[in-house]
Amino acid sequence: MWDVIIVGAGPSGLMCGVTLKSGLKVLILEKNEISGKKLLASGGGRCNLTHTGNLEALYPRYNAGGRYIKRALSLFDNQALMAFFTARGLPLTVDEGGRVFPESQLSRDVLEVFSRELRILGRRPVTGEHVRGFTPLETGFEVTTDEKTYRGRILLLATGGVTYPTLGTTGDGHALARATGHDLTPTGYGLGGIKTEPDNFETLQGISLKGVKFELYKKGRKFRSYRSDLLFTGEGLSGPGILNASRDIEIGDEIHLDFEPPENLFAGPKNCLNAMKGLMPAALGAWLLDSCGISGTAFYPQLGKREKTALARALASKVFTVTALAGPMKSMITTGGVSFKDVSLKTLESRKIPGLFFAGEILDVDGESGGYNLQAAFSMGHLVARTLNERISGLGD
Ligand SMILES: Cc1cc2nc3c(=O)[nH]c(=O)nc-3n(C[C@H](O)[C@H](O)[C@H](O)COP(=O)(O)OP(=O)(O)OC[C@H]3O[C@@H](n4cnc5c(N)ncnc54)[C@H](O)[C@@H]3O)c2cc1C
Repeated sequence: MWDVIIVGAGPSGLMCGVTLKSGLKVLILEKNEISGKKLLASGGGRCNLTHTGNLEALYPRYNAGGRYIKRALSLFDNQALMAFFTARGLPLTVDEGGRVFPESQLSRDVLEVFSRELRILGRRPVTGEHVRGFTPLETGFEVTTDEKTYRGRILLLATGGVTYPTLGTTGDGHALARATGHDLTPTGYGLGGIKTEPDNFETLQGISLKGVKFELYKKGRKFRSYRSDLLFTGEGLSGPGILNASRDIEIGDEIHLDFEPPENLFAGPKNCLNAMKGLMPAALGAWLLDSCGISGTAFYPQLGKREKTALARALASKVFTVTALAGPMKSMITTGGVSFKDVSLKTLESRKIPGLFFAGEILDVDGESGGYNLQAAFSMGHLVARTLNERISGLGD
């Protein structure tokens, strides 16, 4: 009988695995051939593992104002996480936006911290083990994989969400939770780019705007304002601002982009395009003028009333209608998941089945882009281990 069986060797499962006190018999089951596949892909292979800022600044970066993970975050916050890595020989670096990365900019160095620690503890994850089901027993659980049956006193489901299924996250944990009577908040996809109409901006691909103001409209009504960086892709919009907004964006919504033109933008002796170059990259200025039927070489006073009105609108509120979302294949996180109605906020233990715990993206927790999701996963894995270290007495050190 194992003391703890952890299903999923992602950030939350791995953090739990290394934090459980030595002496406990811990089994980690991972269906992929390697641990931490999503961790390796994170941050474009650079792994933005957390964000700077105090706790009060962290909470609002999550759904429900961080209410669900307040305890997990407060007991193992970004400072504690950074100290965890540096104490294990992984130097970190912070970019100008407050995002924290390994100094090497290599996610595999982050994974190596866990692999090394697990090796020392004698807890190497068993990979290629796809968990298909579990049964609560009088004492503990029976966990079945394609190959075997395992028994454990405690079971942690840390199987992640439903996006990027190629990395192993196909919602297995959600199905297991539902099958054992746990409520699920409907799942959606977050932190993905959007396709828009108009989409004729091949010439704009790769252009990014810093700290631009934009508004999300739903059914003609303003839903929320943002100020963030934005990126033009070949077929729509992306960048940190859109990624964060994507947690709320639906097909048919509108993004209203405000370039905040100064009143005297066209006052000098410059033609329209040259005047707009002070406000945005030339290619974007040319595209915007073209969308208003105005030649870049035209001088503002020469424009007709209709052209001036169209230009003023395009500069103050250029509308992009959302035609498609990134979907499960390209969204970085899952919104929704196992509901906290059925899970203790204090310990992350199921309220329905004692001894069953949840951690990470399987739960109804999602954060903004910037390292918040990995922080949440690490903090939740840590909280479960801390709870179990106190509870499982008489064993371990
Ligand atoms: C491309 C990409 C880039 C990202 N970049 C960042 C970033 O830079 N910063 C950030 O904060 N967040 C980032 N994220 C989000 C972050 O990676 C996730 O929020 C985080 O990995 C969630 O951790 P987790 O432990 O909950 O689950 P996961 O990392 O999803 O791990 C779950 C594990 O469980 C395994 N599993 C699932 N079902 C079973 C089963 N039935 N049996 C056995 N094993 C199973 C899976 O194979 C997987 O290894 C990124 C996500 C993606 C997709």
